Amino acid sequence: EEQAELEALQHADVARLLPVPRAESDKYRRGVVGIAAGSARYPGAAVLAVAGALRGGAGAVRYVGPAGSAVIARFPETLVSDRGPKHAGRVQAWVTGPGAGDDAATVGEVLAADVPVLIDADGLRLTDAAAVRARRAPTLMTPHAGEAAALLGVEREEVESARLAAARELAERYGATVLLKGSTTLVAEPGGGPVRVNPTGTSWLATAGSGDVLSGLAGSLLAAGLSARDAGSVGAYLHGLAGRFAAGAETGPGGGAAPVGAHDVASAIPRAWRDVV
Ligand code: AMP
Ligand code: MG
Repeated sequence: EEQAELEALQHADVARLLPVPRAESDKYRRGVVGIAAGSARYPGAAVLAVAGALRGGAGAVRYVGPAGSAVIARFPETLVSDRGPKHAGRVQAWVTGPGAGDDAATVGEVLAADVPVLIDADGLRLTDAAAVRARRAPTLMTPHAGEAAALLGVEREEVESARLAAARELAERYGATVLLKGSTTLVAEPGGGPVRVNPTGTSWLATAGSGDVLSGLAGSLLAAGLSARDAGSVGAYLHGLAGRFAAGAETGPGGGAAPVGAHDVASAIPRAWRDVV
């Protein structure tokens, strides 16, 4: 019975959904993704989210927050500002939360924007369900099992032993699309329907910063116009494939693979993309 409740994207589905610019396109029409993440304590999370976002198909990446100098040093193509999201100018989708620490004000400003928002990591803890439910634009939440457990007020083991139910329950409570990360990644919608399960990935992705790369990547796909469900599942698909390529684990775990850092995963996204199209 569980089988019918799950659906997996195939290469061909992903190829069809990838945002390829038309001949007459420009960077604004491709979409601008805003990254409101990172803190003085965790600047690296911002850098990794930007790294993912630059390979996700949006035409420009805008960063707002305290990690601007670290971001620009690594990625000079980023539009950086030290003012808040409210003053950022044109943005088609926001990513907030990675490395945010306790910056509830930034997360709140992002949630008030009338464009799609991806909430990850610290941002999940700083968000209440009523604020998400009140949003008109789509919201995509991307917890790992520990974060999902904290939101549901249960032990992590409880989420791990009933991942499908946990993803569905969170989607209902928040009225949002929920991407539950882990050894299998699920994407659930409020109101039921089949849950997407990601068929790519490798345990080499269990490395610090890996989720921050996914946030930027999926946020960029949102900015390019994909629905929350498609941005989450296509993002997870490319991220998993990029992890395999980065580690050399194309044929599955083991078999000549080697450990990688999260930035290596981000760098392998273009290879994953080319493999799909
Ligand atoms: P985070 O915990 O936020 O850094 O996110 C970790 C990322 O790595 C998510 O995309 C997970 O789905 C992925 N990941 C973690 N552990 C595994 C695993 N054992 N197998 C496959 N993917 C994993
Ligand atoms: Mg994380």
